[in-house]
Amino acid sequence: MRFLSGIQPSGNITLGNYIGAVKQFVKLQDHPDFTDFIVFIADMHAITVPQEKQTLRKSIRSLAAIYLACGLNPEKVHIFIQSEVAEHAELAWVLECNSYIGELERMTQFKDKKEKQVQGVSAGLLTYPSLMAADILLYDADVVPVGKDQKQHLELTRTLAERFNNKYGETFVVPEPFFPQTGAKIMSLTEPEKKMSKSDPNPKAFISLLDEIPVIKKKIKSAVTDSDGVIKFDPDNKPGISNLLTILSCCTNTPIEELVEKYKDSNYATFKEDVANAVVAELEPIQKRYYEIIDSPMLDSVLDSGRDYAKYLAQRKLSKVYNKVGLGRKR
Ligand code: ATP
Ligand code: MG
Repeated sequence: MRFLSGIQPSGNITLGNYIGAVKQFVKLQDHPDFTDFIVFIADMHAITVPQEKQTLRKSIRSLAAIYLACGLNPEKVHIFIQSEVAEHAELAWVLECNSYIGELERMTQFKDKKEKQVQGVSAGLLTYPSLMAADILLYDADVVPVGKDQKQHLELTRTLAERFNNKYGETFVVPEPFFPQTGAKIMSLTEPEKKMSKSDPNPKAFISLLDEIPVIKKKIKSAVTDSDGVIKFDPDNKPGISNLLTILSCCTNTPIEELVEKYKDSNYATFKEDVANAVVAELEPIQKRYYEIIDSPMLDSVLDSGRDYAKYLAQRKLSKVYNKVGLGRKR
């Protein structure tokens, strides 16, 4: 089975991205069901909203280094940069021509992100899901892990794959969504009813994997909670404390019930101190490896061989598609 996933280099990777995505990939890379494991950096998706050139370039390389620092093993995992495999854009165009404006306009991410744009809404923001479908369908990915925020896009990918297969004959594998069970969603530290997001304008809302240790501690200590002083898991009425319990549980591999029992006679200050220490224990070694990797030639050779492998698969699929559609000359 082929596993595929990508993250946008649209800011600093957060603790939410780590717990909800990267940490899961690291766990899954050793699973015997996955004979092929592809993880990419979705830089073409990032430019659906305005990006500053220098920052984007830095974030792309930084994300690649973070993948490795978090433990993705380049012996097992193909890591590449989306824009270096032009077939993504080429297939996206064909899929766009088979997508309806109405179905794209119905996507909640489009509706949300559209509201936030001050410099006008790009056509790319609308066609984002067709590009995402191309990312997945190019590689015949069987399993695509998605957070709740990407569920709708994956459903559209399935629709587009089935539509194409019906119209032109069997071409694409229809991918299955896969929802990681633990810690699927980490919430904002300042508004715990919202998800933690790397593009949040308020840096106190998220922990970046590269935040300095004292900053991490400070952000957790000032995380918004409530005033009833009881540590229990109740996301509706106690979103702040519940989020901290989820974070502690994910960082220490301890079930939430066990933590609730442990802290039943404790107070918020002690609890937050323990959460802060657990997050630091998880992130400190990652940061150390990150700084060893970021400027190393090893990072480039991983990205080069990832690109070559992806290109090999993508070219084969794209010529099939062009032949089915009747584009160009027969190849
Ligand atoms: P952006 O605000 O730019 O959309 P993001 O933080 O939502 O950034 P994405 O690049 O959209 O990050 O998503 C990367 C991966 O991280 C996806 O698999 C997504 O489901 C997961 N993810 C994003 N936010 C969270 C979160 N708060 N908790 C758990 N997983 C998350
Ligand atoms: Mg997102």
